[in-house]
Amino acid sequence: MQISKDKVVAIDYTLKDNDGEVLDASPEGQPLQYLHGAGNIIPGLESALEGKAAGDDVSVTVEPAEAYGERDDRLQQEVPMEMFQGVDKVEPGMRFQAQTQAGTQVVTVAAVDGETVTVDANHPLAGQTLNFEVKVSEVREATDEELEHGHIHEE
Ligand code: ZN
Repeated sequence: MQISKDKVVAIDYTLKDNDGEVLDASPEGQPLQYLHGAGNIIPGLESALEGKAAGDDVSVTVEPAEAYGERDDRLQQEVPMEMFQGVDKVEPGMRFQAQTQAGTQVVTVAAVDGETVTVDANHPLAGQTLNFEVKVSEVREATDEELEHGHIHEE
């Protein structure tokens, strides 16, 4: 069976940046399952998998525009440390949910300088070119319920 819209696909994958550093990978024996054509995964990876079948290996390089978008420096801002009341120690890399005019956003602490904290609301992979090594492990028909919900249901 070939991958096309409304198929449920299971993939084993490794994601590396342009320096060859592994950013993410599916756990051994636990492939990622998704509903094809429903926007469950980034567009560049979804289109590269179109027409593939179980057992196929796919190597694809995805530019930011087809992945998590370009970085937007306006999404980085300095806020006072007092906004982090109840947190013992604020350190770069920590992630928080923040209430903003745009709703709830996840922000990452980019830097701490005394009483000033720089937070960044960009997706951590924004602006990055992503290199995927993928093995398709299974392709099956989606159930009616999965199609209705727009996502897969694991057994
Ligand atoms: Zn559901």
